[in-house]
Parts: sequence; structure tokens; C-alpha cells
Amino acid sequence: MRDVKSMVMPDAARMDESSADVVVIGGGVAGLSLALRLPTQLSVVLVTKEWLGESNTRYAQGGLAAAVGSHDSTASHLSDTLAAGAGHCDPLAARILVEGAPDAVTWLVALGATFDPAGPGALDTTEILGERLALGHEAAHSHHRVLHAQGDATGAELERALVEAVRARPNVRIIERCLATELIARDGMCIGVRLLDETDQPVALAARAVVLANGGSGRAWHRTTNPAGATADGLALAWHAGAVLTDLEFMQFHPTALVPPDPAAPAFLISEAVRGEGAYLRNNASERFMLRYEAAEMEPRDVVARAIAHEMLREESDCAWLDLRHLDADFVRQRFPTIAAACASYGIDITRDFIPVAPAAHYFMGGVAVDLAARTTVPGLWAVGEVACTGVHGANRLASNSLLEGLVFGRRAAESIAADLADPAARMSWPVEPRLGGVPLDTSDVHQVTAADPDVRQRIQGIMWERVGLFRDAEGMADASHELADLAARASLPQKESRGTCETASILLAGQLIAAAALARTESRGAHARTDFPLPSPQLAGYHFLASQTGSSVKTIDFAALDVRGDVR
Ligand SMILES: Cc1cc2nc3c(=O)[nH]c(=O)nc-3n(C[C@H](O)[C@H](O)[C@H](O)COP(=O)(O)OP(=O)(O)OC[C@H]3O[C@@H](n4cnc5c(N)ncnc54)[C@H](O)[C@@H]3O)c2cc1C
Repeated sequence: MRDVKSMVMPDAARMDESSADVVVIGGGVAGLSLALRLPTQLSVVLVTKEWLGESNTRYAQGGLAAAVGSHDSTASHLSDTLAAGAGHCDPLAARILVEGAPDAVTWLVALGATFDPAGPGALDTTEILGERLALGHEAAHSHHRVLHAQGDATGAELERALVEAVRARPNVRIIERCLATELIARDGMCIGVRLLDETDQPVALAARAVVLANGGSGRAWHRTTNPAGATADGLALAWHAGAVLTDLEFMQFHPTALVPPDPAAPAFLISEAVRGEGAYLRNNASERFMLRYEAAEMEPRDVVARAIAHEMLREESDCAWLDLRHLDADFVRQRFPTIAAACASYGIDITRDFIPVAPAAHYFMGGVAVDLAARTTVPGLWAVGEVACTGVHGANRLASNSLLEGLVFGRRAAESIAADLADPAARMSWPVEPRLGGVPLDTSDVHQVTAADPDVRQRIQGIMWERVGLFRDAEGMADASHELADLAARASLPQKESRGTCETASILLAGQLIAAAALARTESRGAHARTDFPLPSPQLAGYHFLASQTGSSVKTIDFAALDVRGDVR
């Protein structure tokens, strides 16, 4: 293996197989759109640990939120985003998100992504590049504003269009089935990445800019909607490189994952859009229990998830039920073909039968702290998409805002990288403190681990599900922290690097950090629900816990003083 640490900073003239201007780790919506937005003069290597195309993005069903309808406005999209975020969003970042949405949609359509056309009787539609498109409705959105593709296969269509475009780019080299295991730093700057190839052989790549675009952390919990690759690798990579992580206590639990008859089968999501189109939630007694809430089935995700969990506890059942029987059967089959097919494989006809559902870990709002240009606190390292914490989602993500985040902040990161690489002095003004100030998290009990015995994975997932899950309290989380640290101490395999040991180490480290953050937040806010602190604390609104190896931290930020209408540049 070439020793990257001994290399000087590469420049364009010296690029070869083991170096590039930009290395992007991740081929979901964030990494792909970033790669496509970079100037074509830059050499780019895009690394994915699966075949290109396999990612959380691919499984997104409901769609892509954008205020492009005739009755809609970015102000309304912003207000819904901030309301869902439960007083914890960065308002400026959220404004950038919603204002970037119309351009992102137009860019995708121009690139070849196909969204569903508007049918007769559509409540709101939009015209993009001469095509009239349908706009769906999802919980906690005030308007019809969700573009979708092939009914409920939006992510697959986005991934298809983006992958096709990236494969056609001569400046982008794609490396599949390679696991990024370590970021390489010199003099406090990220200068490359270490990988394990398909056969677990180490490889190193040097780069002038490194981007984490490696997605979510759902696989740290026992029940999740996330595919196998969502093992929190990005959090671990950033932590070991000394970057600041933030908002780690905020994992969104989706209310309606299918409960398959075979408990060993992976969870499958039943999209929010199903309730958006009018489906009811019922308990075992067939009662529509969400009628006890103001917006019934259209309450935000955290409220619906907890309501379902309460109902399951009260009835001692393992699921609640989605009921679509009152909706037009042809419409249901056409609007939700993926869901209909998945349910049919278990003998469930979604137009006639109840669908068994329960909450599952779904989307990680926290992540690597970044500024509005997607820069982390380590010079030379950017982060985009689910792995990053821009602050747009606050304590609870508004449905269909995450594909959008990957597109909007992918573009901003590309612009920032291009500017940075064009001007060698730019690194001198790199902000090494997180944009969202806060207080350092006490991580002294966290047991560092870089390779762990894969046999402990289920145990970690069980601990996280039972004690750092939908309902949390101090006693359970303190136990979880001790148990995870103990597991880390016993399962650590310093010499043994393989895909399985590295991924297990990532979720073991992430689990400890998440438990520490959740223990520190002595309130309930958004997706973070504590039975011992059931209410939000006014003192903790906009208050971030920052985790880093060096314990670096930092100023506090006065959210009330931020002018959301001000100039965002
Ligand atoms: C079932 C489901 C439904 C969803 N529905 C919606 C929806 O309707 N609308 C919406 O906005 N959002 C939805 N989401 C959320 C959304 O899909 C994700 O937040 C988003 O796609 C994340 O994109 P990303 O590019 O950040 O990461 P991903 O799409 O997860 O891509 C991560 C990439 O990183 C790679 N990778 C990871 N670790 C490593 C490593 N160590 N080395 C090398 N490569 C690595 C992976 O191989 C992959 O290519 C849904 C999520 C799920 C799971």
C-alpha cells in the first residue's frame, strides 16, 4: 500500500490511480449530486461500499418536497420545516434548503429524472420544463408539495438518473464495494482516506478534498427501515479524524414500518404518503386512535410514532394497523405499487386488508457538524446528506426534506470545494469551530473502538432499541452506556480489519455517543422523548451538544438573534 502520510498535497498535474482532487465517500443522492455539480476539470473518485445504487436513497418512497405548487410558497415550506424541527432547527440553513428546492427539482428533471405526471382531479400540480407534475401530500406539510416517481419509488428513480449521469462523466472514477475505514490527516488537515477493497485488502487514496456522503445510522437499532449499509460509518470516520459531531440524540422513528409475519425479515417502510392520501390508523379494537389528536393521522412523525407505541403497549400487541379500504382500490394500486407488491408477498392485499405496522428507527437528524458550505471542523473535510448535521431538520425531520437536503447541500458543498481548490489561501480561513455553537458532551466513558467482533452486533442493536429508542429515561440510558462501553472493551479487535469488524465498531462507537447525548438532554423535544423529562425545556431550545475526541468547544449561539430573512450568502 502506498504511504499517503508521506505524500505531499497532490495537485492536478500529479493525479494518478491513488489520488484525486476530490474523493467522495458515498453514492446516494448527496454524494452523486455533489459529484455532478463539481467542475469537470477536477478529478473525482466516488467510493461506495456496495454496488453503486445501493443506498438509503434507493429505498425512499414518498418523495421530494419542494414548494412549487400554485397554492404553495417557500415561506410555508420553511414554516412547516421549523415547526416539525421543534424549536431546534437552524433557521438560516432551513431557509437555504427550502429556497433551493425549485432549482433542485428543475436540475433533476433536466438531468433525466422522471416524476409522476399530474392526473385528472389533482389537487395541486406544477409545471417543470414543460411537464405538468403531480404533487402529493404528507403529514405536517401545509400544502401538496411532494414530487414522486413511479408512485412510491421516488428514491429508486433519483438514484437511477443520478447514477446514469455520473457514469457518463469522464472526470469521475467510481470505486464500488470498497469500505472507507479511516480518514488520513496531516497537520490537522484531511488529506486522504484509507479503504478496504472487496477482498479486505487495504488501499489508500490521497485527495485535496474529502467528502463524507455516507448516509445514515439506522442499523444501530434493532428495528429499522434502513438497508444493511446504514451502519454509522460516517460518524465513526469523522470522530476518529477529530471532527465535531452534534445533535446525536435525535434519531427519527418512522411510525409505520411493516411488521412482517416472519420476525427475521427486514423491516419495510409504509410511506407517510399513504396517510397523506387518506389512510387511517387503527388499533386492535379497530378504533381510529389518532382522532384523539388535533391533526389525526397527519400529526408529525414523532407524535404518530409515540401514539402507535402507546397503543401497542396498552393493548400488549406487536403492531397497529393501517387501513386503506375506504380509498379507491385502483388509485391505491397505481399510487403505491412498491408497497402493494411488498405486502402482497406476505399475502396482504392493501386495498382490502389491514396492514400491520410499528415504529422503526428511520432517519438520523444529528451527524457531523457542518457550516452552510458543508465544511466540517476539520480543514479539507466536507460532509453532506444524512451523515451531516446542517441543522435543517432540528429535532425532527419534516417528511421528504432529506432527499432535498442532499441535493441542495450537495450543490453548496461542490461550490465550496471548487472555490477552495481554486484558491490555496482558502484553507487559512477554514472555520474550525462548529457553526451551531453549544456545549461539549462528556465522552470520557466512551470506549474507542476501530474493529469489533461482529457477533456483538445484535446485542448493540437490542440495547439501543430497548433503552435508547422511542422512549428513554436516565436509568435505562446510563445502563445502556455502561453496557455498550463494556461490550466495546470486550469486543475490540485491534488487529483485525474486515468489513464486518469495521461496521460493528462504527455502530458500537455511534451507540455510545448517541446514548451519551441522549442522557445529557434532560428534556423531551421532537424525536427525543424522555419519560423522566416529558416536556421541552425552554433553556434547551436551540442548544446543541457537541462531541469530539478533543472535546473542542465552543461558543453558544443566540438563535433568537438570527435573522431568517437576512442575506444567506
Ligand atoms: C425506507 C426509506 C424511505 C425513505 N423515504 C424518504 C422519502 O420519501 N423522502 C426523503 O426525502 N427521504 C426519505 N428517506 C431518507 C432518505 O432516503 C435518506 O436520508 C437519503 O437518501 C440519504 O442520502 P445520502 O446520500 O446521505 O446517503 P445514502 O443514500 O444512504 O448513501 C450512502 C452511501 O454511502 C456509502 N457508504 C456508507 N458507508 C461507507 C463506507 N464506510 N465506505 C464507503 N462507502 C460507504 C453507501 O454505499 C452509499 O453509497 C427514506 C429512507 C429510507 C431508509
